Amino acid sequence: MSNLLNRRHFLAQMSTAALAAGISTIPFSSMARMANEQKKLGIALVGLGYYSKDLLMPALEQTKNVKLVGLVTGTPSKAKQFGDKYNIPKENIYNYQNFDDISKNPAIDVVYIVLPNSMHKEYVIRAAKAGKHVICEKPMALNAAECREMIAACKKANVSLSIGYRLHYDPYTQRIMQIAKEQPYGPISIVQASAGFRMGRPTDHWKVKSQYGGGAIMDMGPYPLQAARYSTGMEPIAVTAQQYNSDPKVFIGVDETTTFQLEFPNNIVANCLTTFAANVNYLTINAQKGEYGLNPFSGYSGLHGILPNSQTFDFPPMNQQATQMDEMCLSILQNRPSPTTGEEGLRDMIIIDAMRESVRKGGARIVL
Ligand code: NAD
Repeated sequence: MSNLLNRRHFLAQMSTAALAAGISTIPFSSMARMANEQKKLGIALVGLGYYSKDLLMPALEQTKNVKLVGLVTGTPSKAKQFGDKYNIPKENIYNYQNFDDISKNPAIDVVYIVLPNSMHKEYVIRAAKAGKHVICEKPMALNAAECREMIAACKKANVSLSIGYRLHYDPYTQRIMQIAKEQPYGPISIVQASAGFRMGRPTDHWKVKSQYGGGAIMDMGPYPLQAARYSTGMEPIAVTAQQYNSDPKVFIGVDETTTFQLEFPNNIVANCLTTFAANVNYLTINAQKGEYGLNPFSGYSGLHGILPNSQTFDFPPMNQQATQMDEMCLSILQNRPSPTTGEEGLRDMIIIDAMRESVRKGGARIVL
């Protein structure tokens, strides 16, 4: 790792520096702490919009394995505002023109792409070519072909690629995954998952424009899709989808609402919805011995677990984004695959591509 010093080497260096400076009494515990701090990877956020500013930056004040050291933005006022707020050295602040120079910056180990969906592919590939590990927000890209290019670029550059599936790091989702594995309520038959919100952003926002990869299925759709997959622990074998649009002048070429049905092995069916037209958020799973799930299931906090026989479960509050970035960076430090790889992002995009084909063919059943 470029800016990581071997712990022993670092401690030796510290002792030498202390002696040279005439300081003979730096406590070993302080040196150990400083060595531990050296173990934090440096991360740069690319795109300083809502998710970066409101969620990732505050989360990076809590992380153990990674710290915010760089920013990439096209807006000089944001560079100044957040550079000052988070004490970012000027040489670690880039714009979209000089972004590739990041390759020469050893302080930055990881680049986190938090841009409109249509820009994910370009910036993941540029980050990989710069020799940086990459985290990319969901949805991974515009389609499966782009995902394959991104995975290949990261493999070629020998860098890690993670997708920002924050719920995989949340204990509620992990409990649902565990139930899928252990089946304490018997075999699962039906999954129902819906995630949406009433779109309050300006109607010219990129999230309602097709060329930026907008639309409900791209924005909130990954949540019910992921939920269907992790609730069953299986991959779907066929999909059908329908799209609705109450105002084609606002939602130009994108869906306002998508409903989709996934068929899994063992006759398991998932019935899912995603929308910009209503605030909706639940995951319900029917198994032989009863119904369980989460309501809500995909928020940043405030999740709630429901079990058969009117039982419930809850976990202490945690920070999904901090845990996600810590776990991803630990996998980099330990030289193992990320818990949420590019291949995981690709699996979702293959299914979203099939949904589009189903819609084009009037709701036809598409075999995966
Ligand atoms: P946003 O519109 O608030 O921010 C996007 C940023 O990209 C802005 O700072 C904008 O200035 C910048 N940008 C650079 N070039 C641009 C261009 N040509 N057009 C438009 N913007 C440009 O969006 P957001 O809500 O922060 O979403 C960013 C990414 O994060 C998306 O991929 C989204 O799906 C994802 N996201 C994930 C979560 C999550 O919970 N994991 C939550 C929100 C958003």
